[in-house]
Amino acid sequence: MLLTITTTHTPATDLGYLLHKNPARLQSFPMSFGQAHLFYPEASVERCTVALLLDVDAIGLVRGHESEGFALQQYVNDRPYVASSFMSVAINQIFGTALGGRSKERPELAQTALPFAATLAVVPCDGGEALLRRLWEPLGYAVSVDHHALDTHVPEWGDSPYFTLHLAAQVRLQELLTHLYVLIPVLDNDKHYYVGDDEVEKLLRFGHGWLAIHPERELITQRYLKHRKSLAQSALARLVEAEQPDPDALEAVHSREEALVEERISLQQQRMSAVVETLRTSGARRVLDLGCGEGQLIRTLLADKQFGEIVGMDVSHRNLERAHERLHIERLPQMQRERVRLIQGSLNYRDQRLAGYDAAAVVEVIEHLDPPRLAAFERVLWEWAKPSTVVVTTPNAEYNVRWERLPAGNFRHRDHRFEWTRAEFQRWAMSVAERFGYSVQFFPVGPEDAEVGAPTQMGVWTRHA
Ligand code: SAH
Repeated sequence: MLLTITTTHTPATDLGYLLHKNPARLQSFPMSFGQAHLFYPEASVERCTVALLLDVDAIGLVRGHESEGFALQQYVNDRPYVASSFMSVAINQIFGTALGGRSKERPELAQTALPFAATLAVVPCDGGEALLRRLWEPLGYAVSVDHHALDTHVPEWGDSPYFTLHLAAQVRLQELLTHLYVLIPVLDNDKHYYVGDDEVEKLLRFGHGWLAIHPERELITQRYLKHRKSLAQSALARLVEAEQPDPDALEAVHSREEALVEERISLQQQRMSAVVETLRTSGARRVLDLGCGEGQLIRTLLADKQFGEIVGMDVSHRNLERAHERLHIERLPQMQRERVRLIQGSLNYRDQRLAGYDAAAVVEVIEHLDPPRLAAFERVLWEWAKPSTVVVTTPNAEYNVRWERLPAGNFRHRDHRFEWTRAEFQRWAMSVAERFGYSVQFFPVGPEDAEVGAPTQMGVWTRHA
């Protein structure tokens, strides 16, 4: 039973500090069910992999339970080979500090999302590849699965319920370990120990921040609690009470899904360049970034001295906090710091603070607005704030067919209220221009396809003099 975790964060050997385990040493730990061995098959600056290998004592395990099962069960069972709750126990005991999100030597890194890939050599999964995907993809993982034949000599028997599971995501190590800790026993659908009330506590603790918003939370809870109905019910009730109303966490999970879809072409990067280039040629000096999210556009704008005043606005406190952190505003030299301001506010309401700017960028935001609110937003921006230039980007729905799979269903992001075709966007944009005294032009962003256009569409409005 083998788990490997690889990072390509540089220096990758920081993984040793994050796990509190020295990459140069092989370590072995006696466990209640056998032995656990920890080693690093590779440890370079570019790439570092840790391997956790469990050596399960199959005969020792069934000793004392001889009356259960069939006669040879103590010799013939899958326990030594598949990832099961033994793996969770080992993760907890051996990576306990990292599982708690702590790191003495790299505390900041422990709180940072890093590129990780994890492989479980063998997981049993009665629900097949589909269930594996349903469990991991909503958490933002890219999932790939190797199927294993029941018997390679008898292909007509078909596939076994065993899989090799590969996961990849940009996550905090603590998140990755927590997800593994909870979901491995869920896959195995069996726990080697008695499940009681304290397991409910454990599930709620490890599930904090993600389980309540996971589409498969019921299945996860039931299986984790080994189908003990009363326990599962009380856990689910508490999950809903304690965690449901956290739209920010939901947004974070969904954004990760969206990032995954778009990463292949780093569309976000191309979008930022297109928007900044447009703002630059408009001659704008004082600019608004409306729905600024975590501040990526602001960072690009800061790099260009032309933009003497940059105001980022968002409705989400959490996003503004992250923008504040990511831009390292505290650490900027005073001259730089004075150029940027982050304010909380909603585009649905008239806001005096938005008046008097040269330009406004609204990047990947309108599709998050409820269609009935769109009319209010139009007046807020084009009638009251009325900057000389407005740049809006939004997904081109037609392009979605060019992506093999959209994890969020029909849209690129679950929180999208709509995604428009080019004709729909242009119709709306021209009507806005006409009503508020602007002209508008359209540009594709990202690789353009002859048939369906580019993945992102951009409208640029210029106010009539
Ligand atoms: N412009 C950023 C973020 C896009 S995600 C980027 O391109 O990376 C959409 C953002 O719009 C989120 O940060 C969300 O909090 C914000 N948002 C959604 N509805 C809003 C509203 N009514 N007013 C202001 N911001 C809003």
